[in-house]
Amino acid sequence: MTIEHANRPIVISGPSGSGKSTHLNRLLKEYPDRFGFSISHTTRQPRGQEQNGVEYHFVTKEEFLKLVDQNGFIEHAQFGSNYYGTSVQAVKDVAQKDRTCILDIEMEGVKQVKKKDLNARYLSLQPPSLEILESRLRGRATDSEDAITQRLAQAKNELEFAKTPGVFDKVIINDDLEKAWTEFKAFCVSEE
Ligand code: 5GP
Repeated sequence: MTIEHANRPIVISGPSGSGKSTHLNRLLKEYPDRFGFSISHTTRQPRGQEQNGVEYHFVTKEEFLKLVDQNGFIEHAQFGSNYYGTSVQAVKDVAQKDRTCILDIEMEGVKQVKKKDLNARYLSLQPPSLEILESRLRGRATDSEDAITQRLAQAKNELEFAKTPGVFDKVIINDDLEKAWTEFKAFCVSEE
């Protein structure tokens, strides 16, 4: 096992509300020295208990666009009415700690990362159905009605995109939580 291999980043994608954060947080708790989360920039407002510099770097649109101009992003995209991006620095911060970097990004970001020299592995986490996704998003009670409608429309695109052959190395349906977690963990720790 080479160092390069050990540090191959993992890109996790899938509709908002499919449970990416739940599995990710569990992974980071179980393997605190092995994996590191790439903290993205976003122009959206913090949700619930989210803290600046933990889940995201929460920035203004001006700050975000300035970093775009400075070529500070590996990838960036608009999702709903907000911008999201992975900064070069975010990935460097994880690499410096010699941890496997995990990116949680939507499909436009996946397309961009695929064109970069990151040699990542790609995992799609999906809800069992759009109906279940809708009830999860509503149950979360943190998004406005508009945001929920946008996220559901986006979810359809994401699920369609995930069918493209060769895009994802693994697809996990987040139906039974423990079963999905076992598969999720197995994918992340494999090939290390
Ligand atoms: P949320 O607002 O629910 O935290 O995230 C909305 C969507 O943006 C999710 O699909 C999430 O994966 C994606 N996302 C989060 N950070 C980034 C990023 O840095 N780049 C891209 N392209 N998407 C991101």
